[in-house]
Amino acid sequence: MNIILMGLPGAGKGTQASEIIKKYPIPHISTGDMFRAAIKNGTPLGKEAKSFMDKGELVPDEVTIGIVKERLAEEDAKKGFLLDGFPRTVEQAAALNQMLEETGRKIEAVINIEVQEEELMNRLTGRRICETCGTTYHLVFNPPKVEGICDLDGGKLYQREDDNPETVANRLSVNIKQTQPLLDFYREQGVLRNIDGSREIQEVTGDVESILTNL
Ligand code: ADP
Ligand code: ADP
Repeated sequence: MNIILMGLPGAGKGTQASEIIKKYPIPHISTGDMFRAAIKNGTPLGKEAKSFMDKGELVPDEVTIGIVKERLAEEDAKKGFLLDGFPRTVEQAAALNQMLEETGRKIEAVINIEVQEEELMNRLTGRRICETCGTTYHLVFNPPKVEGICDLDGGKLYQREDDNPETVANRLSVNIKQTQPLLDFYREQGVLRNIDGSREIQEVTGDVESILTNL
């Protein structure tokens, strides 16, 4: 099962991915998470990525394509994968198709989570994440039982540095520009599935599940 989760920043990709991997034994591959891990570990990749992420710009294609290629070559990704936040440009999508073809694989579905732009600013500025397990919450839409504390493991919740209003505004405009050609690319390949991401988290999960069970 080779799946892509698409959607603008804040659409709910990470939230839905954590539900999908509870039911399907495939790795959740998020390029944003990979870059943040590299930053935390102080690697050269992290240093390069940080300058783009801080501004809300995309990390250059050749860097991003390189890390995904390495990740998809790992053993656990051979039985399938759930890509989150990649591809974000047509160049990345074409490179992904080529690397999958080389290993006799293909994308089965691109699930595009649609949410109005106005809603995304609220979602991103209210996003909070557990520092130990990475579970995502929202101050209003999906609050933890105890303020500032993860329901699952008691970890402290933090806010991502790029979830401030200025950087969010730039991330949205950068991503909106890239989205249409990317959607056209996958529509032409017959794998695009749009879902309405503006509803309750559980309702969106229901739509994702019905796509996956009917693949
Ligand atoms: P993405 O990975 O696409 O950037 P996230 O899954 O991190 O998005 O979600 C962004 C924020 O919106 C989080 O705070 C999350 O709790 C919240 N969120 C996710 N899905 C919904 C939804 N359907 N309704 C309301 N809030 C949501
Ligand atoms: P979101 O979907 O909420 O914007 P991500 O965690 O997916 O957040 O991405 C955070 C940042 O990492 C992006 O703003 C961008 O700088 C970088 N990034 C992630 N995925 C890609 C990608 N496929 N191509 C280029 N840059 C990326």
